[in-house]
Amino acid sequence: MSRAVAVVLAAGSGDRLRMGAPKAFVAVGGRSMVALAAAAAAACPDVDSLVVTVPPGWEDRGREELPPTKPATVIAGGESRHASVRAALGAVPDDADAVLCHDAARCFASPALFSAALAALADADGAVPVVPVPDTVKRLRDGIVVATEPRQDLGLAQTPQAFRAGALRDAHARAAAEGLEFTDDAAALEWSGYRVRAIPGEPGNFKITSLEDLARAELLVVHALEAIPHVESAGRPLGTRG
Ligand code: C5P
Repeated sequence: MSRAVAVVLAAGSGDRLRMGAPKAFVAVGGRSMVALAAAAAAACPDVDSLVVTVPPGWEDRGREELPPTKPATVIAGGESRHASVRAALGAVPDDADAVLCHDAARCFASPALFSAALAALADADGAVPVVPVPDTVKRLRDGIVVATEPRQDLGLAQTPQAFRAGALRDAHARAAAEGLEFTDDAAALEWSGYRVRAIPGEPGNFKITSLEDLARAELLVVHALEAIPHVESAGRPLGTRG
C-alpha cells in the first residue's frame, strides 16, 4: 500500500466520563487522548497524513493537540461515530490507497499496530485487530440463556482498523444508501461482502469509556511507560496536566 491516511475519531461527547470536555480532550497522564492517539498514528512510518474528527466548535483546540510531524486535517465530526467516519472520508485525499480508522479513545495503540493492520491488506480488503474473549459468552433471549458461544471462535475488536480506500468508501456508501449504521468500520465491509482479516490486537489497547477505564489508563501511564513509547514522544512531559 503506497499512500495511507489515518482517520482519528475524536468527535464523541464522552458524556459517561462527565469531565466537562469531550472525551477525547480529557487528559491521560498529562496528554489528551486525541493527542496520544494522533501521536501514535503519526509515529507510524507507514502513515502519510491524518484526518481528525472533533466535536463541532473544537476544531482549533483539536489542531493544538496534533503532532507537527505529519500533515493533518481537522474536521467537525457527525452525530454518530459512523457519521464521523463518513465526514472524514470526504477529507481523505482521492489518491489514498489505504485508510486507517482509529478511535481516539484507544489512546494506547502502538504505532506498530497501525503498520500491522496496513500490512494485512496485502491479501484482504480490511484488517481488524482482535484480542481473545476472556469470559464465557452467553446468548440471551428475554433474560433466558439460549446458547453458550464457543469463545475460541470469538474476538474483541479494536482499532486501528485498516482498509483499502475503495472498499471502505464503497461499504460506507452502501450502508448509507440502506440507512444502516455500524459500530465499527470492519462491520460495514463484512456486511458488504468484503474480506476482512483479523490480526492480533494489543492487550493494553483498551477503549476508555468509563471513569474506571480512565483510572486504569492513568495507572498504565504511570507504571508502564516503556510499553507505550509514543506517549513519551508526544511532546509534553508526563505528569504535567495539559
Ligand atoms: O463512543 P465511543 O467510545 O464508542 O466512540 C468511539 C470513538 O469514536 C471515540 O474516539 C469517539 O471520540 C469517536 N466518535 C466520533 N464521532 C461521534 C461519536 C464518537 O468521532 N459522533
